[in-house]
Amino acid sequence: AKAEGRGTFRFYEAAMDEAAEARRRLELDLGAALARDEIEVHYQPVAAARGDRILGFEALMRWRHPVRGLVPPGSFVPLAEETGLIVPLGEALLRQACRTAMAWPDPDLKVSVNVSAVQFRGEGLLASVAGALAASGLPARRLELEITETLLLQDCAAVLHLLQGLRTLGVRIVLDDFGIGYSSLSYLRQFPFDKIKIDRSFVEDAQSPVTAAIIRSVVGLGGELGMAICAEGVETEAQRAAMAQAGCGEIQGYLISPPLPAAQAAVLAAGGRLT
Ligand code: C2E
Ligand code: CA
Ligand code: CA
Ligand code: CA
Repeated sequence: AKAEGRGTFRFYEAAMDEAAEARRRLELDLGAALARDEIEVHYQPVAAARGDRILGFEALMRWRHPVRGLVPPGSFVPLAEETGLIVPLGEALLRQACRTAMAWPDPDLKVSVNVSAVQFRGEGLLASVAGALAASGLPARRLELEITETLLLQDCAAVLHLLQGLRTLGVRIVLDDFGIGYSSLSYLRQFPFDKIKIDRSFVEDAQSPVTAAIIRSVVGLGGELGMAICAEGVETEAQRAAMAQAGCGEIQGYLISPPLPAAQAAVLAAGGRLT
């Protein structure tokens, strides 16, 4: 039994070495990805809850890995956050998203960009947003920055100051993944968001009367505070109808379209249909 125990221990040790090694390799690869132009931006449309109108697109990061193929952000954004690489990655994505949006013919379409809490540390974010707007010529009102409430758990005064600075530039500030945190409603007191995105888990569960009541109250509260409401992860007509019924003005999800490569998003942005 003792020998077996040691064997098992060695097995774990080897497995941990392998995991650490895989992580190191990923980290090295990720460091080179930006220089090698392997980071892509895909765009998922945001539509009016009623009717067919497209209001804008959310920019979502993808890694076109030479061996692994298209890597979703869940598999590398956390590592990029730990290593600080999210700062240059996020800046490159922001510049590209602004440039892409500027090429859409409809001058009202918005583009939203996810901003990690790590990008809020230090002073660089304000200059990087201002720089991306200036370089692309995109009017600030067409850019939305999506943040999550984990950001508001950080050093609050500094974060609120930076959010205020971004707002002063004219960009819109969006509270993402609303409802999955701990005390979401209290965050609405801290900062006047332009929009709330209701998390997909609520949309999935919208048939439940309790969830429906929560959504209605968020919509009512957000509406009174002048915030737009977007429901994310809408996959069925029934969910769309429920969200529209609850008073959400905007929806996003596979029902409208999955995230698309820029060229396909541009077809939708020009009022065309995907075949
Ligand atoms: P998120 O900001 O909540 O983005 C929405 C995610 O839901 C996207 O996953 C999108 O593809 C997915 N989604 C959209 N509609 C549906 C639907 O109808 N059903 C289902 N099941 N899923 C849907 P994605 O692209 O894998 O991104 C995952 C997360 O990675 C994002 O969540 C965001 O937190 C993060 N992320 C993506 N791009 C960036 C980025 O450029 N910077 C940072 N900091 N984070 C990013
Ligand atoms: Ca988002
Ligand atoms: Ca979200
Ligand atoms: Ca999310």
